[in-house]
Amino acid sequence: MKRTLTKDIGAHESEQVTLEGWVDVRRDHGKLVFIDLRDRSGIAQVVFTPKEVAAHEVGQTLRSEWVVRLTGMVKKRPAGMENPNLPNGAYEVSVTAIEVLNEAKTPPFPLDTDGHDVDEQLRLKYRYLDLRRPRMQKNLKLRHAAVRFIREYLSNEGFTEIETPILTKTTPEGARDFLVPSRLQPGKFYALPQSPQQYKQLLMVAGFERYFQIARCFRDEDPRADRAYGEFTQLDLEMSFVTQEDILRLAEDLFTKLAESIFPEKHITKKPWPRLSHTEAVATYGTDKPDLRKDKKDPNELAFSWTIDFPLFTEQSKEDFFHGSGAAKFAPSHHMFTAPHPDDVPLLDTDPTKVRGLQHDMVLNGYEVGGGSIRIHRPEVQEKVFDLIGFNATQKAQFDHMLTAFRHGVPPHGGIAPGIDRLMMVLLGESSIREVMAFPATSSGQIAVMDAPSEATLTQLHELSIKVETGEE
Ligand code: ASP
Repeated sequence: MKRTLTKDIGAHESEQVTLEGWVDVRRDHGKLVFIDLRDRSGIAQVVFTPKEVAAHEVGQTLRSEWVVRLTGMVKKRPAGMENPNLPNGAYEVSVTAIEVLNEAKTPPFPLDTDGHDVDEQLRLKYRYLDLRRPRMQKNLKLRHAAVRFIREYLSNEGFTEIETPILTKTTPEGARDFLVPSRLQPGKFYALPQSPQQYKQLLMVAGFERYFQIARCFRDEDPRADRAYGEFTQLDLEMSFVTQEDILRLAEDLFTKLAESIFPEKHITKKPWPRLSHTEAVATYGTDKPDLRKDKKDPNELAFSWTIDFPLFTEQSKEDFFHGSGAAKFAPSHHMFTAPHPDDVPLLDTDPTKVRGLQHDMVLNGYEVGGGSIRIHRPEVQEKVFDLIGFNATQKAQFDHMLTAFRHGVPPHGGIAPGIDRLMMVLLGESSIREVMAFPATSSGQIAVMDAPSEATLTQLHELSIKVETGEE
């Protein structure tokens, strides 16, 4: 018999249905045994009566999280026994036959709480169980809804979704790269992309004009509550023949509509979103990502804003940008492809610290949820920036492909990359980014459920021409 989802039983009153799912809870009242049966659509109450002897006997043995298939008659619940909190709470299924598809051990932690009380390492080790809890199901389903909204919106605006390589070359966004050894070219390494920045610019040279990707980005940085270890997801987008204004308007319209349609209970503090210059934000709020909520206790308030007019460079501090590039004085505030404000180009030669960059940061409730810029498209300006950040000839050569491409008819272009994980964290009111990711790494960089990273075999290492120094002699 065709499977019915628990949410639909109300449409089958006085009919036989087959349900499949997990035993959420069992209540044994001796004669009557009840279970809440859970599937992807929700929960339905199921009852075993002594009249159906065989089914009743199995019903008494059931435990939470067992997987079952059952057939029964949909009936109205007796008067007074309805559950107004469930959409199908006026109905129950009286079981005539049941098959246990799989038994289950007692879970290592309760699944009917929000999970915040459970040790996170343990939750991540048994993530497939942790994800069964309603809060996590909701988070990942709303994340899906948001991504679907984005795809739909951008497709209607003439964007093409294009995938770019994961095995690639360094893409300097200011973090440490993950390297992958090449077997075919011993001693050489791919880098995993910190973002698809260069590819999306090359796609503008290629004439797509409007590109987006739900892009996985890899950065070997220490984790924080609002930053996952290792990898995260951005909505990466790029447009040709646009001004900064066009990019801000598009992103603002997209995320206003997304918030209003997927989170109707939320309200946006100010529309259009306030725009603050970097200087103004820092002077007034002491940060370039101010929290502009009127009531910080209101869980439904969303205060979006833009921070613009960043200085193009920051003075180089502790660590040299780009892994020990020498004694360079300047590092890019955003990244090295960000265009200087056209009025400030002459200052590149005289007073680089005064140059404003055409950078824009998208801010939500005090978090930076996206950044982007208008890009340099003139090779001589790009070269000047390389010089200012202290690139030597070898480092410059790493970006030859960009300069070469810029000599083949590049349109003016720019874009932005809002972070999907961080945005969802704020929209869902979660305090950690890991609550909106299915299988995040732990703070020590472990994918607990798989126990990655793991050691390579000697054969693998040999094929890759790699010798590992373990520190043991
Ligand atoms: N690639 C940039 C980043 O990852 C975003 C952008 O400039 O579009 O921050």
